[in-house]
Amino acid sequence: MRNVRIITDSLRTSVGPFTVKQPLPTNALRYADPFLLLHHAGPHRFEPGSQGAKIEAHPHRGFEPVTFVYRGSVLHRDSLGNEGVIGAGEVQWITSGSGIMHEEGPTPDMARDGGEVELIQLWVNLPVANKMMEPAYQEIHHDRIPKLSVLNDHLHLSVVAGAIGNAVGPARTQSPVLAAMGTMQAGGSGTVDVTDHETLALYLLSGQARINGEHVVGPHRLVVFDPGEGGFSLEVLEEGNILLLAGQPLNEPVVQHGPFVMSTEDEIKKAFRDFAGGKFGEV
Ligand code: MN
Repeated sequence: MRNVRIITDSLRTSVGPFTVKQPLPTNALRYADPFLLLHHAGPHRFEPGSQGAKIEAHPHRGFEPVTFVYRGSVLHRDSLGNEGVIGAGEVQWITSGSGIMHEEGPTPDMARDGGEVELIQLWVNLPVANKMMEPAYQEIHHDRIPKLSVLNDHLHLSVVAGAIGNAVGPARTQSPVLAAMGTMQAGGSGTVDVTDHETLALYLLSGQARINGEHVVGPHRLVVFDPGEGGFSLEVLEEGNILLLAGQPLNEPVVQHGPFVMSTEDEIKKAFRDFAGGKFGEV
């Protein structure tokens, strides 16, 4: 079992048309290596005919923006020529590498009929040696995501990356990462076992739970555990949704500016020059 290192509360910030909850980074926690940033958008209801939900084309370099959709659906387009729809319970794993441009917005159905969207975007850092790799895009649909039932069937995990129990997620990652979307039901109680990852964190989108028998946490809180082995105990007090994350610290310098995450100031300047010079392509 691991002790809780810190529990952060979310800041509020704006991303395009969304006001998002941001439990990482905060003043108290700069990152949970290799996880740099977590944005929780929604649940947000869009009116029929609403086009305002679009995040216009923008670049990334040097890390992996990963989108976990909990409700609704998202239409994605990028400079590699990908275009796809990610629905509830599905994931888009972008390896920005040397550079990608992308835009995200409502699907045509959603723009016409309105609807509700809730998603998380997570920034996973890339090892320095992989920051300038070829960009890649993984669209991970339902049928590829194994489900794991724990806490006597009161916690259902959809394993996106890494291994937990006998479930192995389909995402290709550039360092060892475990990511699982979860739904918890009140009354569940037990241990969530996570092995082989030094970094371990749990985010609550909704609901309430008691961690390790002593910390009662509610919506928009990120619980980060001490480095080490093993998992934690979880008692579900109120049903809700979670994101479970684990990884291996990269222990490398992080220099972030806007949509770029590199390891030196010079590399950041070069990213801005390359972007101004059109080297990230077009959506
Ligand atoms: Mn983006």
